[in-house]
Amino acid sequence: MKNNCVFCAIAAGEIPSFKVWEDGEFLAYLDINPFSRGHTLVIPKAHYANLAETPEDVLARLAVAVKKTAAKVTGALGIGDFNILQNNGEAAGQTVRHIHFHIVPRIPGGGTAFESGKADMNELADLAAKINAAPNTANNINRAQP
Ligand SMILES: [Zn+2]
Repeated sequence: MKNNCVFCAIAAGEIPSFKVWEDGEFLAYLDINPFSRGHTLVIPKAHYANLAETPEDVLARLAVAVKKTAAKVTGALGIGDFNILQNNGEAAGQTVRHIHFHIVPRIPGGGTAFESGKADMNELADLAAKINAAPNTANNINRAQP
């Protein structure tokens, strides 16, 4: 862990998270202050503060991890639309200085605001279980959008 980074602690399993996807290099888990139902964060397990500090080869694989995670989460929820958001620096809204991509599922009429809500921890646990129980679409990265 670097500088008591909370995301490094999550990646190391020192802080619990609602995991929805991972491989040896990356981890995806539900945001506990979601912009929408299924709001997911994707991080490298290694610490890089932001986009500029992330090596390009890691970033290329991270982009694929984001795509796989988006397919898994939206597929499990039956949602076709989503935002990808990545903040760099405090003025841009980056609250944890460990690079992360947000996947924000969107439903028709649900708005497109980037405003944190409060999630019930039991609901998040149920949602993570639902996503993890769904047929695995994470590797079907070329699927057509509904
Ligand atoms: Zn970190």
